[in-house]
Amino acid sequence: MSQTNKTVFPIITRAYSKENYDGHGSAFFIDPKGLFITAAHTFKHPFRDRCALIEGNRYEIKEVWSEYHDFDSQHPAIYKDLFIGRIDGLETPNHAILLEISDTTTPQSDIKILGYSVGLNNATISIDELDELNDSPSPEKLKEKLLKYQPLEASFAKPHFAHINKHSTTKYLFKNGFTIELNISEPHGHSGGPIVNAKSQVIGMLIGQNAGISSSYIAEKLLIAKSIEDDISPTFPSLAVPKTWDNEWLYKIMMSVHQKLNIKGSAYQTACEHLRFVSTDDLHLLNTPRISKQDPGFGLTEINYFLREENRIVHLVMVNPDAYKEAQLTKDEIEAILMHELGHILNTPALEKPIQVKSTSTEDLKLLMESEKEVKKVNSYNSEVYADDYVKQNGYRLPLISSLNKYLNLPTAKNRDMIELRILALTNEGSELKGSVATLTKIK
Ligand SMILES: [Zn+2]
Repeated sequence: MSQTNKTVFPIITRAYSKENYDGHGSAFFIDPKGLFITAAHTFKHPFRDRCALIEGNRYEIKEVWSEYHDFDSQHPAIYKDLFIGRIDGLETPNHAILLEISDTTTPQSDIKILGYSVGLNNATISIDELDELNDSPSPEKLKEKLLKYQPLEASFAKPHFAHINKHSTTKYLFKNGFTIELNISEPHGHSGGPIVNAKSQVIGMLIGQNAGISSSYIAEKLLIAKSIEDDISPTFPSLAVPKTWDNEWLYKIMMSVHQKLNIKGSAYQTACEHLRFVSTDDLHLLNTPRISKQDPGFGLTEINYFLREENRIVHLVMVNPDAYKEAQLTKDEIEAILMHELGHILNTPALEKPIQVKSTSTEDLKLLMESEKEVKKVNSYNSEVYADDYVKQNGYRLPLISSLNKYLNLPTAKNRDMIELRILALTNEGSELKGSVATLTKIK
């Protein structure tokens, strides 16, 4: 058996500050120019870098399309765990298996899952390699070297798959995939690998022990991915400070959110060129200090911030990686928070005004002060629930709820009452709250 395959290759994840392997998945090319498919969950850790390992060389991965929800945020009938990427500057061989649509609703016999494993649980590892691994003070370093191509035998079980999470009392049924049965228990590392039938046609992609996403669903998303690539939008949001190794994670999440919200004619598309993102770690690099002294919590937005570096007014979104790490947020949850901050800009409610008083008598001034206080409270509540509703409208309701719950678990959490109210509002799947895009002021 060959130790590598020209169509299927491993994807490595590693911590930004380290070179070492810390996990892997499998991926496969679907066009001769380096477009490939894999499972998005391999990249779910927000603070890890990723690369493809092809014939011993590492290649950078460019995200073209990605959709992913964490286990507990998956909502039927579509299971979101698909990543379409591109590796530039690589000549893929002509004999690559190209994705062929196969009707996965009919049971198929003789199916195989193609992918890479570290080879610890099977015979592909040699005795010498095993000795080297056991003797090594840092076995993780060696794992990348030990990755081997290994097809797994499987059988087709059902034309859909079921899954239980903490929000469901019964099994949720997902229709964009199918159930398989595998002969081995932990197919770690085969996630993202193609599931092929006896004719070597791709019928799906592995996402877990028992399930695959169907090729017909993948084909549908491929059309979207191709249209995104062909019609590269001239306007992108950017970081407010230069891109560095330390803020690269933010750049990736920002672009991932961009790819989801940048729909023709959307509020996001009209405003995205005025958006700037900054990590709270980089705030000291900004030439103009923030106006608001508010604690950023998970995130904070400053509408109409003067960005001296570009001599223009922008909407500044601040994101706080320390808080995300402390709360152990997933990529999915951070994306929901970014969408919430964008909601403050793109879905702003009409403001309530205080009552008008007839005189400047103590009585009237007291009434005015009370009214102002009340109105301020209502406006700030509305601003939050409209921002949350923007997240909901974009399909990130569950990740937002879980991120808010994680925030409440932090000892440093502030505004607890407000957050409880927001979770309550998000729990009710009511009608949409339609706000408007914040107006951008001009430099005077
Ligand atoms: Zn907010």
